[in-house]
Amino acid sequence: MFTRRDAIRSLAVGSAATLFSPHTLLAGLAKKKDKLGIALVGLGYYSTDLLAPALQMTQNCYLAGIVTGTPAKAEQWKKKYNIPDKNIYNYQNFDSIANNPDIDVVYVVLPPSMHREYVVRAAKAGKHVFCEKPMATSVADCKAMIKACADNKVKLAIGYRCQHDPNTQEYMRIGREKVYGKPMMIACGAGYVDGRTTHWKQKKALGGGCMPDMGVYALQGARLATGEEPISVTAQAHVIRPEIYKEVEETMLFQLQFPSGAVAACHTSFGINMNYLQVNYEKGWLKMEPFSAYGGNKGSHSGGVIDFPIKSQQAKQLDEDCLALMNNTQLIAPGEEGLRDIRVVEAIYQAAKSGGTVKISS
Ligand code: NAD
Repeated sequence: MFTRRDAIRSLAVGSAATLFSPHTLLAGLAKKKDKLGIALVGLGYYSTDLLAPALQMTQNCYLAGIVTGTPAKAEQWKKKYNIPDKNIYNYQNFDSIANNPDIDVVYVVLPPSMHREYVVRAAKAGKHVFCEKPMATSVADCKAMIKACADNKVKLAIGYRCQHDPNTQEYMRIGREKVYGKPMMIACGAGYVDGRTTHWKQKKALGGGCMPDMGVYALQGARLATGEEPISVTAQAHVIRPEIYKEVEETMLFQLQFPSGAVAACHTSFGINMNYLQVNYEKGWLKMEPFSAYGGNKGSHSGGVIDFPIKSQQAKQLDEDCLALMNNTQLIAPGEEGLRDIRVVEAIYQAAKSGGTVKISS
């Protein structure tokens, strides 16, 4: 974030143009607000059913604007959420959001193949960016998104809502503090039965496939429970309904090897309902079911239970990320965390294709 000290430094070197550019003016204003204005890009299921309702519960931010390609949705949202016309954009005029001081953060909630373009355009408009998972469809895109945000002095957070959930934070703590010694074996599954047939989740070019969509939850379960990054993977892709899954995998089994010697058997699917995490440590065990649902995540371990109440993961995520922007402190899941997963996702696809073991370089 552009700080007062940066502003003084700009002035000192005589760069009035830098000081009064829309970027610096907006970043400066954002710091003084007690509630940041968020603009949602893409008004599909997740924006409509989860994020917009959560933004009615938040303390540190509010729904200030929308970006949509559908005029009828703009009308509905405008009425429902009292959004002024000047804060409503389409995909063509989106870049002019740079001149709108009401918008501090752009939240990209589009199909994954579109994340890079809209994150980069938001960053160039001088706005902080929240981006839904999976961060992008390639490591190269993730790196370009991180660079665009750094170049434009804005921050990037990935919508890993579970990392804001105290139930997730508790199993992470048990792993990190080695409460039961080293992790030995992890089993983790995340999937649901998707009845749609022509959605972007079934299209390769839009970033479909169960691996980037639900598989990142299973991958996060293993990564967060061990506190380690996988060093190699093997994987097997499957299709149960070939009449629907012509371009992408419907189910993916993947096995991760960690530096400590721990191994994980993970699975994800658009054809099987499952949501669980199990960890066996040297001196104990942990089970969560569900582990990555919107609510009600809970579990038990050798020494007790994990069952913290949480009203809305999304409201907590939005509030915590906005507070981090206002205070210029570290985000819980910055762009680098999204990149860590996509690096493994790429290796999983390579392993599934080759049938061999793929090493992951950091
Ligand atoms: P969706 O299909 O319901 O909505 C996608 C939106 O993008 C729609 O408004 C659609 O009109 C718009 N769009 C613009 N151009 C498009 C194009 N070329 N093709 C298709 N749609 C286009 O999807 P969703 O379920 O809301 O998912 C959006 C993002 O949110 C994805 O990245 C997804 O992984 C993520 N998501 C996250 C969670 C979570 O728990 N964090 C849950 C659901 C979805």
